[in-house]
Amino acid sequence: MKHHLIPAASDVEVFPDTTVFDVADLVKCKIAELEAEGSDDAFFVCDVGDIIKKDIAWREMLPRVTPFYAVKCNTDETVIRTLVNLGLGFDCASKGEIAQVLKHGVSPARIIYANPCKQKSFLKYAAKYGVDLMTFDNEAELIKIKELYPNARLVLRILPTLQVQVQCELGNKFGCHPDNVLQLLMKAKELNLNVMGISFHVGSGVEEAKAFSYAVQQAKDAWDLAVEMGFEMTLLDIGGGFPGQESSPITFEEIAIVLNHALDYHFPKDSGVRIIAEPGRYYVASAFTLTCNIIAKRTVARDIPENDDFKVGSPDCHHKQVLTQNDEPSHMYYLNDGLYGSFNSLMYDHAKVEPRVLNDSPYSFSSSVWGPTCDGLDCIMQECRLPEMEVGQWMYFRDMGAYTMCAGSTFNGMPRPSCFYICTSQLWTKLYPDEISDKRRCTKLPNHHHVDQSNVELQEIVGPISCC
Ligand code: PLP
Repeated sequence: MKHHLIPAASDVEVFPDTTVFDVADLVKCKIAELEAEGSDDAFFVCDVGDIIKKDIAWREMLPRVTPFYAVKCNTDETVIRTLVNLGLGFDCASKGEIAQVLKHGVSPARIIYANPCKQKSFLKYAAKYGVDLMTFDNEAELIKIKELYPNARLVLRILPTLQVQVQCELGNKFGCHPDNVLQLLMKAKELNLNVMGISFHVGSGVEEAKAFSYAVQQAKDAWDLAVEMGFEMTLLDIGGGFPGQESSPITFEEIAIVLNHALDYHFPKDSGVRIIAEPGRYYVASAFTLTCNIIAKRTVARDIPENDDFKVGSPDCHHKQVLTQNDEPSHMYYLNDGLYGSFNSLMYDHAKVEPRVLNDSPYSFSSSVWGPTCDGLDCIMQECRLPEMEVGQWMYFRDMGAYTMCAGSTFNGMPRPSCFYICTSQLWTKLYPDEISDKRRCTKLPNHHHVDQSNVELQEIVGPISCC
């Protein structure tokens, strides 16, 4: 089905094709702009081109699987608009997310309400707007759906039982254990509901590709059972769990190879089964870089020497101090975003972050990095090595697009960072073929690197954008 392009975000800066973005250069450039305006606020830079490249790679490597972006991962309007125009479907978890996607003119047929435990009024909202594709994994949900949306198309979410390392566990809360599938399907039959698909989620940030092949096999077992019971099965939803950044323990390519094999074996092309997925972090993690200002600094002794008389800060400490190799000072840096803001991902998403600085000093010191609130819990990094920095300088963090700002608060009155968007014109015209004009072209980057080999390869794989 074709869809119409919605207008591009007016705030995306489009750079000439010859530009190869160096994140440090971009960050420097934005800092210079902000400082000229007198601002010291934390900010994101989002490379929209990175999202487009991810989509190109998805369609290359998983050609049978239509992505339905998991909106919860990053609800940024420019991200949603970009993905709408790339033709993705959307995995929504609530009335709010459904409304956000519908607002862009997305057809309800491009949405899956993929929350197996739905609030009744949200379910009524889905029924009102014709968002009829939804997941379930328990009897109470079936009873609710029977009452409020009896014609909905239902996708049974099973629990993949292979134990593998994941960044974020989901199986402790969702999924019907394979042993209970028969009973749940019998309940659906008794209620005369329309079960037409099977879904699973292997866990977010999965570290082993075999999690997918095993889950596909378990989905096939549930599928066969449903077919035997007379359900007309047409949809397989392989959920999320795909890596979104280079530092992930497993690559997207490794997963795609294993997954394609399992799909072709259990759900071959000629079966006519429609296959969708719900990727979240895959699309957005690496597109976002967060830059924070150092708003305060404290230097402390890292280790107290064995001499008990020595107390940091006591008037005579210098006289009594016995220098040892542990006496190197430690710097505590306070940034203007923290655990209650974008770095909530350290707690909720078990994320790992790496502070980077624009200072190229060869000397590094024991350091810790803290958020801006008055809570002692608000610590971004307890121990790392950094060149010595001063108040007013900046630190930046790459790969900050997934499960960051979407769950951040303004605790202590701390504002959320604003976001700047960039893209190269080559990728931008993939999205908006008619839109590029000299007016939109921006040449503000300090260093314009020339096209390198990776961009040449990219040009070769860029194909027509398909629609779902
Ligand atoms: N689908 C569902 C139902 C989820 O709960 C999640 C994440 O929690 C996702 C998709 C997205 O997962 P990921 O970001 O690992 O791709």
